[in-house]
Amino acid sequence: MTLSNLTADYRARDAAHHIHPFSDMKSLNAEGSRVIVRGEGSWIYDSDGNRILDGMAGLWCVNIGHGRKEIADAIQRQMAEISYYNTFFKTTHPPAVALAETLARLTPTQFNHVFFVNSGSEANDTVIRMVRHYWATLGKPRKTVIVARWNAYHGSTMGGGSLGGMKPIHSQGGLPIPDIHHIAQPYWFGEGGDMTPDEFGVAAARALETAIDEIGEDRIGAFIAEPIQGAGGVIIPPATYWPEIARILKDREILLVADEVITGFGRTGNWFGSETFGIEADLMPIAKGLSSGYLPIGGVMVSDKVAEVLIGPGGEFNHGFTYSAHPVAAAAALENLRIIEDDRLVERVRDDIGPYLQERWRALGEHPLVGEARMTGLMGALELVPDKPSRKSAFPDTGKVGTIARDFSFRNGLVMRAVRDSLILSPPFTLSHEEADYLVATARKTLDDTLAEVKRLGLK
Ligand code: PMP
Repeated sequence: MTLSNLTADYRARDAAHHIHPFSDMKSLNAEGSRVIVRGEGSWIYDSDGNRILDGMAGLWCVNIGHGRKEIADAIQRQMAEISYYNTFFKTTHPPAVALAETLARLTPTQFNHVFFVNSGSEANDTVIRMVRHYWATLGKPRKTVIVARWNAYHGSTMGGGSLGGMKPIHSQGGLPIPDIHHIAQPYWFGEGGDMTPDEFGVAAARALETAIDEIGEDRIGAFIAEPIQGAGGVIIPPATYWPEIARILKDREILLVADEVITGFGRTGNWFGSETFGIEADLMPIAKGLSSGYLPIGGVMVSDKVAEVLIGPGGEFNHGFTYSAHPVAAAAALENLRIIEDDRLVERVRDDIGPYLQERWRALGEHPLVGEARMTGLMGALELVPDKPSRKSAFPDTGKVGTIARDFSFRNGLVMRAVRDSLILSPPFTLSHEEADYLVATARKTLDDTLAEVKRLGLK
């Protein structure tokens, strides 16, 4: 079969039987999916033989890069020992023990326990049940409300999709579930009005105080937030935001949940985004970078304060998954964490490739199409606008220009993702300087191509 026949064959069979996540299948099937057949380091290869730089590390997860043989070997070794056993009925196994212990060591000091799940969504569903069980155990069963933020992403299960503040998700399937309350996000570029970033950071945080005043502390169990919103468009909060949240929650009986599914394991230049922003959370959902996506695994890190209640007075927690602490996934995660530590990849993001890419990425802010170029650690965004320097200008038909740019980027050999009319980036930590140069040159070409198209369409 020629390569183009091969691609056509995959596409036809995919269209016939496969419903993709977050996809309009009718239009996708008409266009045809890109078929990814191989990955190596920072690169993926499609069935037409194109080599594309994976600027999203899969879905923010392949932090050690594609195709690491050590992980394949660790998986194979564990498979040969015992490929599956559960952790429900008074049993455990060596990979679960070792991974729980390693996580207690690597996470911030207040975390010494983990509840294992398979994904970020399951982690956040677990958070909802754990928060409510915690307060009920303490004799406060009315503290069921969880405050979250508009444009947050916490997964797409009933619980995760409800905590998230994405209206298109809420519009299907009867979400949000009861007792989830959304407040404003700290998105200065889009919503900061005439305020400085610092003023706006305080104002956005105070939405939490207002919610507490309105709903009552006796009803609120937790506040959940991503240290940096990822899927919402790499929204890096102003420096004043997290300190103000800490001030508001100080001495209150409200748990703080830092959703570190994206920001965990080095993405922001520290092991956890909580360290980058000085967040002291009570619960911490993790997934993605825990195994660099080699196998599905996630967890909820449980602080000593919560563990004291759960382990003891809490009694049996009627919750768990067949694959909680799946031994092979746990072995893959352990090997991934070993690689991150031994190759000093967190330090690399903080001191080497992070600053190197940030400097060049921020220079893209001078392009006539870019209203803001921001990046922390290795997660960044480019806001596309019709008029500079105003932050207040926006393209009509939100999302159209972002999608045009995203498609150019793919064609030019770089995976970036579009959110509204911005492009976002989250490359592997192993990205070399030469690859970073290629990335920035390709992003620049993509902006030039998009600008020409925007002009042709009369949008600028
Ligand atoms: N929380 C955050 C912050 C996420 O970014 C995601 C996934 N993008 C999730 C939760 C859900 O994770 P999963 O897709 O593994 O269910």
